[in-house]
Amino acid sequence: MRGQPQDFDRVLSSMCTEPHPAAREAAERFLATNPGDPATYQSVADLETEVVEMLGDVVGVADPSGYVASGGTEANIQAVRMARNRAVTQTPNVVVPESAHFSFKKAADVLGVELRVTSLEDDYTADVGAVERFCDEDTVLVVGVAGSTEYGRVDPIPELAAVGHEYGALVHVDAAWGGFVLPFTDHDWSFADASIDTMTIDPHKMGQAAIPAGGLLARDAELFDALAVDTPYLESASQATLTGTRSGAGVASAHAALRALWPDGYREASQRAQANAEWLADALAAAGLNVVDPELPLVAASVTDEAFEALREREWRLSRTSDGELRVVCMPHVTREMLESFVADVESVTATVARGGR
Ligand SMILES: *Cc1c(COP(=O)(O)O)cnc(C)c1O
Repeated sequence: MRGQPQDFDRVLSSMCTEPHPAAREAAERFLATNPGDPATYQSVADLETEVVEMLGDVVGVADPSGYVASGGTEANIQAVRMARNRAVTQTPNVVVPESAHFSFKKAADVLGVELRVTSLEDDYTADVGAVERFCDEDTVLVVGVAGSTEYGRVDPIPELAAVGHEYGALVHVDAAWGGFVLPFTDHDWSFADASIDTMTIDPHKMGQAAIPAGGLLARDAELFDALAVDTPYLESASQATLTGTRSGAGVASAHAALRALWPDGYREASQRAQANAEWLADALAAAGLNVVDPELPLVAASVTDEAFEALREREWRLSRTSDGELRVVCMPHVTREMLESFVADVESVTATVARGGR
């Protein structure tokens, strides 16, 4: 059997989307290149340097250091690894809000650091007071989320940065999903808004690049020294990435997407996505659901298990929050027509469920 990728026309759950046509074309052209060996594959290595510069423009930092990772998971693991390797303590801990992505659990597990998970404010953002209470002299990293996975919330990044630095820790912002939307909002989240050290921003999510294209950026090149290992059999002398052989397709597609879309294309996509999210939130509220206000283009609303299953049976690709709400990510492929058809199905299944399934 020859496999077929599935269409995006019922996908409401994904944080990834159809790549921009230029990104798709670039990915195909660079399939057989390995930026992990930059002295051999020089042209893709040059593209990667340009991607890092362009990402710097997106996140408000001049001349950043960084690379195109396999995704947000790798970037977050590497940020934790940087902080751990620089620290002198034998018992390092990392303080994250409860809304942090599960990749930090993997990071803590792999790297042998203690993960301290702090409670949230009622609006699902990090509670700065709680973060401060969890910090001590062994804290090596404080993490803030800019565009949380479940509710699209933005933590108070300047305040978290102040707390982290007071304890001598590094400060990392996870903008894996939110990074290409937030430049067009008035949130304080970027290197320009706060004295943060590192950031995760994924071109393969809102950036419309092909998978795999994640991003890790640091304000200072020197932070990457904590990750460098010698590479005897390669032409280049050392490597700071987690993976060895890497996807040149991801790098080239991120380059093409950024070239095509930054800033106007991303602004338009963000505004369309946000308008769709607000329309959906209003429509679901009108249908009687409890809706979490969409600060960024991500809508969560409470439904019964029966209604959720009925929507899945109608082939909607939907996910749930840990509290069981349905969650719709208004990615660029999610159109108003899709959402209208989805809302009609929500109205129909909630009516059916209310009638006892008949
Ligand atoms: C998606 C996401 C990640 C993980 O990124 P992958 O590319 O799936 O590895 C990390 N953090 C946040 C906030 C995310 O939305």
